[in-house]
Amino acid sequence: DKVKVAINGYGTIGKRVASAVMRQDDMALIGVAKTKPDYDAYVAAKNGIDIYPVDPAKAESKFKAAGIKIAGSNEDMIKKADIIVDCTPGGIGEQNKPLYEKLGKKAIFQGGEEHELAGTSFNAVCNYDEAIGKQFVRVVSCNTTGLARLIYALDKGFGVKKVRATMMRRGGDPNDVKRGPINAIVPDPVKLPSHHGPDLNTVLPNIKIDTVAVKLPTTLMHMHYVNMNLKVTPSRDEVVSTLKQYPRLWLIPSWMNIKSTADVMEFGRELGRPRNDMMENCIWEESVSVDDSGEVNLFQAIHQESDAIPENVDCIRAMMGIEKDAKKSMDKTDKTLGLGN
Ligand code: NAD
Repeated sequence: DKVKVAINGYGTIGKRVASAVMRQDDMALIGVAKTKPDYDAYVAAKNGIDIYPVDPAKAESKFKAAGIKIAGSNEDMIKKADIIVDCTPGGIGEQNKPLYEKLGKKAIFQGGEEHELAGTSFNAVCNYDEAIGKQFVRVVSCNTTGLARLIYALDKGFGVKKVRATMMRRGGDPNDVKRGPINAIVPDPVKLPSHHGPDLNTVLPNIKIDTVAVKLPTTLMHMHYVNMNLKVTPSRDEVVSTLKQYPRLWLIPSWMNIKSTADVMEFGRELGRPRNDMMENCIWEESVSVDDSGEVNLFQAIHQESDAIPENVDCIRAMMGIEKDAKKSMDKTDKTLGLGN
């Protein structure tokens, strides 16, 4: 009785969700929808994943010419699934929703869609229960996931009065040659504060937060500088040990000599992580500072391509109601995906 999962949109996020689903013993991957044959389709087929063209009339002959077997249409795939993880580019999920509604299927949308499209936004540690049994849920973006995990932990531990966060964002993903900048720092958006604060409030509604963001010429990770005023004044040791209770928050020890996002990703390669992915918030332990008024400062690096992947796996369990206990789902996900190792 495994949950049947289909992936609509097989790019940066879609291919990672597909791999993660294949590692779960309570889920089965029905297939993935691809617009056209390419190297991702080639590898998916090689790994035994069924491929469904988005528009068979247009693409069927192309897949045939490439020697890639197809299993039917996108709609065939959706009909076979219990739940669809929609990982299409921002805005396309909105166009796909009527199809999911017509076929009476559950669907997960990603952070590029508006909160209102699903009505429920999700981060496992913050609000797993809200997704239980829902038809549509949106997993928040990479940046919001990174903020949510961290702020939840300190709010639960000490109470958070106010957060100010600066997101230093990667210009594009490593394969995304059309994005930039390649030689500038871009305030984005210029009008402050940025949308990341309100987005955090979709999963943690009671947190006061102001955010700003700039785009940088790098593809590897985002870097967050986070400043928080706590309701109490804990010691630095108390803050550090609170953060260490959460497997999705990894405190980088100073002896590891990880000096940059490049070192974090190199560490992922050395660990032999699939696709080098570092799905945890990577928090420099040395940066965690707490003053005598309960003000915390720290740096964390966020791997935009992968941090939302475990959240998608947990979101499937919650929406399908196969695990009602958030912690049990997260533990299972972390173990199967190798987080915390
Ligand atoms: P992507 O461009 O890498 O992948 C999207 C895939 O969907 C591509 O393979 C594209 O060909 C395919 N596609 C396009 N139109 C389609 C359609 N109509 N039906 C089916 N497939 C279609 O995009 P991504 O980076 O994986 O982003 C997907 C979503 O995840 C977006 O909402 C994005 O905001 C969100 N997200 C992205 C990141 C990131 O850093 N890349 C992080 C978190 C969340």
